[in-house]
Amino acid sequence: MRSANLWGKTVTDHKAKRVALIGIGLIGSSIAHALREHRLAEHIAISTQSSATLARAEELRLGDSYHTGAEEAVKDADIVIISVPLSACQAVAIKIAGALKLGAIVTDVSSCKASVIADMGPHIPAGVHFVPGHPIAGTEHSGPDAGFASLFEGRWCILTPPKNTDENAVDKISDLWKAMGSMVEVMEPEHHDQVLAITSHLPHLIAYSIVDTATNLQDDLKQEVIKFSASGFRDFTRIAASDPVMWRDVFMKNRVAVLDVLGQFSEDLTALQRAIRRGEGDKLEEVFTRTREIRRSVIDYKQD
Ligand code: NAP
Repeated sequence: MRSANLWGKTVTDHKAKRVALIGIGLIGSSIAHALREHRLAEHIAISTQSSATLARAEELRLGDSYHTGAEEAVKDADIVIISVPLSACQAVAIKIAGALKLGAIVTDVSSCKASVIADMGPHIPAGVHFVPGHPIAGTEHSGPDAGFASLFEGRWCILTPPKNTDENAVDKISDLWKAMGSMVEVMEPEHHDQVLAITSHLPHLIAYSIVDTATNLQDDLKQEVIKFSASGFRDFTRIAASDPVMWRDVFMKNRVAVLDVLGQFSEDLTALQRAIRRGEGDKLEEVFTRTREIRRSVIDYKQD
């Protein structure tokens, strides 16, 4: 199967020899499936924190070798993909630094980019390339069983290489994501964090907050909310079922951008509250008509 363009030539001819996956949850295992499906690596080496998750990854045959130490997995790897919670990225970078081969490319998938560059960047040795990335794809599920090969298909992956990153290394990681079905955009890390604060982080915070409000209702009312959830609440419960550790980390690491957009959101919400109190139906209709247009644009971009 000739599936994509990597290393400037067809993938079948020029696979990466060894790809190391550090962290094998939803994103890491989806990458493992996609690498296999599109034949993008000769050897997939996997490492994760717990022996239970490593054993499960082996049962699922996600890789070719399994390592309790991340430093063993990255040895001789051409590409190292770090898919661990944001709060663990720095420790992983410190752990693998001495074992990375000259010319290797380290990339990650974390949801916030400025913080990860600050946390990991200083520990990436000279002669090793660092190309941070973020696939805008996910589900509310976690762990090695949650992954699937098509997760990244038709989704954006944003790369945020620090200044002076080797262009060839950026191209290789870009080609890798394209080979897994993604569209790729290169961005400044701070800009990424602002965009994601509004498109992803704020919606998650609102979902967590609404579902928590329902949690605090009296028991009989709470039962009714769950029973009749199809009227809108259900979609919030799906988002609010997302991994608590991952989302705790997102709000700790993208604090400034999130607080900025949260301030704007609070003002807009107060304006809607006032319109309802004053009976200004025309104002509400005006806002709801505008928002409908955004939904149509999302569908036009095939991101629904
Ligand atoms: P996940 O399913 O919870 O998996 C996390 C993986 O990281 C597990 O294999 C876990 O291992 C491992 N891990 C945790 N701490 C570690 C450490 N200190 N050292 C080594 N491995 C460690 O999480 P995920 O959803 O794949 O998310 C991973 C990253 O992808 C996060 O940075 C997140 O921001 C980003 N991301 C997530 C989504 C999404 O929708 N979920 C979308 C885009 C990007 P054990 O099980 O062994 O503890």
